[in-house]
Amino acid sequence: YTLAKATAIDAYINGHLIPPDPALEAALKNNASANLAPIEVPPNQGKQLYLLAKMLKAKRILEIGTLGGYSTIWLAKAVSQAGKVITLEIEPEHAKVARENIANAGFEKIVEIKVNSALKTLAQMQEEGTEAFDMVFIDADKDNNTGYFTAALAMSHVGTLIVVDNIARQGRIIDQGSTAGDVIGTRKLFELMGKEKRVEATAVQTVGSKGWDGYAMALVIE
Ligand code: SAM
Repeated sequence: YTLAKATAIDAYINGHLIPPDPALEAALKNNASANLAPIEVPPNQGKQLYLLAKMLKAKRILEIGTLGGYSTIWLAKAVSQAGKVITLEIEPEHAKVARENIANAGFEKIVEIKVNSALKTLAQMQEEGTEAFDMVFIDADKDNNTGYFTAALAMSHVGTLIVVDNIARQGRIIDQGSTAGDVIGTRKLFELMGKEKRVEATAVQTVGSKGWDGYAMALVIE
């Protein structure tokens, strides 16, 4: 495949299946004008997260890695006004942009952004006995993926779906001898998901406007 063709196919898919949503489009524009890296999920993957959340009838969703809140808005659309989305972000500047985008989308009452290192926030949430989540979307620094997955599992119930983004990294995850933190973090995640008896998991590679990557998903079964 070529990136140009994969991007054109994404545009084709989005043109047919993803009706324009002013709030989502405004969020992408605002992210770009705030100079955030264009590393939000593409629209078709955002809609996949939304559909998964709807299938789960999710009321409580945890997101790790907010950026400008693009994926957060997709998740909030799925839980609607009766739900709650808690999203974790380390960069105050990203959180500020996300807050604007989320308010513009009308979801400021159901979305809570917690600004700190996600591992610290997750530890605090567990200490506070935070109610279990129906779905967790992990999309922050890949180095800490096992820590995020373990915390997600601790705040899950039977039937919770944990989705982890960026599991192929342009093919880098199987580079033997790689010392890159994201590669090592992702490989440790696969080892953990494969051994963990409380989940059934799979992963799918993707190509599209964001290049060659993929996502993993794990369903909590006990
Ligand atoms: N989920 C977003 C979307 O699709 O619109 C994209 C998230 S972006 C790929 C990753 C985000 O994780 C960045 O905003 C980054 O600042 C944040 N991040 C990185 N390390 C973090 C950490 N240790 N704790 C919390 N957030 C972190």
